[in-house]
Amino acid sequence: MNIDIATLFPEMLENYLTQSVVGRARAKDIFTVKCHNIRDYTKDKHRRVDDTPYSEQKGMLMQCDPIYNCFEAVTAGREKPHVIYMSPQGKTLTQQRCRELSQLDSIFILCGHYEGVDERIIETLVDEEISIGDYVLTGGELPALVLVDAVVRMLEGTLSQPDCYEDESHYRGLLEYPQYTRPEIWHDMRVPEILLSGHHENIRKWRHEQALINTAKKRPDLLDELDLTPDDLDIIHKVVDFDK
Ligand code: SAM
Repeated sequence: MNIDIATLFPEMLENYLTQSVVGRARAKDIFTVKCHNIRDYTKDKHRRVDDTPYSEQKGMLMQCDPIYNCFEAVTAGREKPHVIYMSPQGKTLTQQRCRELSQLDSIFILCGHYEGVDERIIETLVDEEISIGDYVLTGGELPALVLVDAVVRMLEGTLSQPDCYEDESHYRGLLEYPQYTRPEIWHDMRVPEILLSGHHENIRKWRHEQALINTAKKRPDLLDELDLTPDDLDIIHKVVDFDK
């Protein structure tokens, strides 16, 4: 997968993109990512990329031309990538959408700043607006990193095996089961006996039950989206007192 990120602050992104799981996947060429400084594409002699919004006294807005020129230069001679504008006005990012995006060959992510971008650039270039939540951040850089991280985890070879992410929260609609590591006893609290048993089928069942209970306690809204079996509902009703 090829990822291009257009931003006014490429250095904010670069550090994260060389670290940990994402950095290792990048080093293994599982994906490529390039950060492009939109300021390099302005024709203004003072390298300005923003101006005041019409009929507003407050804030600055990113102008069309630098963004458009950046997109044209970066994608010249290539098929048009899927263009995503990180925006608090977009659909909220989900694990499902990350999985779908991980199937694409090429994405181009636009990070806004200031009051955002001129609406005409959205109309001209953008295929999809994605939000990372119902709050407003200063710029699209953190949201872009959130998106890249979540998508790259889904690419084959990033994690050692698919069950590393398939068991994780949200992949199948449930939250993950509780996990424990050494020591076996900490502050008088013991690791559940079953996890020490080595009985794989019983452990699998326990994890499924715990994932159901965890979800029912912490995010009961997620259960509405699932096809729960009568057994699943029994497990939930034994510990959580609500009618589903
Ligand atoms: N004036 C805009 C509005 O009210 O919709 C908000 C602009 S915000 C200060 C600047 C930039 O940060 C946006 O253009 C967008 O790229 C990014 N941004 C802020 N919050 C975001 C969020 N929740 N999800 C994704 N991107 C966000």
